[in-house]
Amino acid sequence: MPFELVPGATIGILGGGQLGRMLALAAAKLGLKTHVYAQDPESPAFDVASARTIAPYEDELRLMEFAGKVELITFEFENIPSRAASILSDACLVRPSPETLAICQDRLAEKEFLTAAGIKTAPYMRVDDAGALARAVAQIGRPSILKTRRFGYDGKGQILLREGADLAVTFRTLGGTPAILEAIVPFAKEISVVAARAPSGEFAAYDVCENLHENHILKSTRVPARLPPEIAAEAVQLTRAIVDSLDYSGVIAVEMFVVGETGGASDAYLELCVNEIAPRVHNSGHWTLEGAVTSQFEQHIRAIAGWPLGAANRPGAQKSEHVEMENLIGEDVLVWAKILGEPGASLHLYGKAEARPGRKMGHVTRIIPGPVRERAI
Ligand code: AMP
Repeated sequence: MPFELVPGATIGILGGGQLGRMLALAAAKLGLKTHVYAQDPESPAFDVASARTIAPYEDELRLMEFAGKVELITFEFENIPSRAASILSDACLVRPSPETLAICQDRLAEKEFLTAAGIKTAPYMRVDDAGALARAVAQIGRPSILKTRRFGYDGKGQILLREGADLAVTFRTLGGTPAILEAIVPFAKEISVVAARAPSGEFAAYDVCENLHENHILKSTRVPARLPPEIAAEAVQLTRAIVDSLDYSGVIAVEMFVVGETGGASDAYLELCVNEIAPRVHNSGHWTLEGAVTSQFEQHIRAIAGWPLGAANRPGAQKSEHVEMENLIGEDVLVWAKILGEPGASLHLYGKAEARPGRKMGHVTRIIPGPVRERAI
């Protein structure tokens, strides 16, 4: 058999959010079935998957049962207990690997991995208690950011450490758990590289994405990022170095800060600093559903199945178009009917019942003629 998986096989997906939902849809396009394992009975991915398990990630029996029913397991978010990953990988092929997951779910391990690979990150120090925080502040200074090592996302699990703030209180406020202190990077813009690597080593990257966050949550992505071509190429090269050294399989997103002035003669001093690695499909890659030949979701399924990767190019580049993806967060989604009437806009709703503040309810992709306009992003 030339491929590890053939159409008709079942892929297990850990996590039932919108990423799992869009992965399941992409798998169905390729004739594959999906079995979603998630804790929340209202998980958006359940609507479109072939089978479901509703159970906690700590339930070893249910995990084993799940592993017995699928040919391959992947995940749509990295914050699963490492014990769950190791139970599953004893019973089934897991891609990306549990070793990769262990690095990406721990901010300290991730920073140490990047540093060992010679990749620049924000200056950081390990903080295990209030005393260590005082020592880290002496090195890194203030303002700086205290981040929990594990289970942080969308700005959760981090506190801005201001001048004069009490260190013991700050450490307790963050939960008193192992953390890192990070220097604030004075970035000019935030970008991400969404790319895929197959088990064979085949690699394909999408055009670099330029990201705007509001309240620590991604608000919009524009593609291509407005960057000098050599900086865009360097961002892709860094991503390739990361996936090669992880022997990675699947789609990955590497979030980076661009440091220095952009748009002027000082472009030559631009520098990239990696903020975070997401070992999965990523919100900043949603535009690929309409904007690229192969979507990031299909690409992930192809990569983990050991199938040839699809083309990652953006046909709109030939026509000088650009793409904008806007997240519909909380009550933003109430304008869904208006978006339906907007020519050229592609609406995605995740099927979540309640539009709570900060909750990602859907997104809209717009393909726009001409290059990205100069706007404050
Ligand atoms: P994170 O959860 O680490 O991805 O952080 C969420 C957002 O907070 C990032 O996208 C940045 O906008 C901001 N941020 C995080 N770390 C830093 C840093 N060291 N310097 C400046 N901004 C940061």
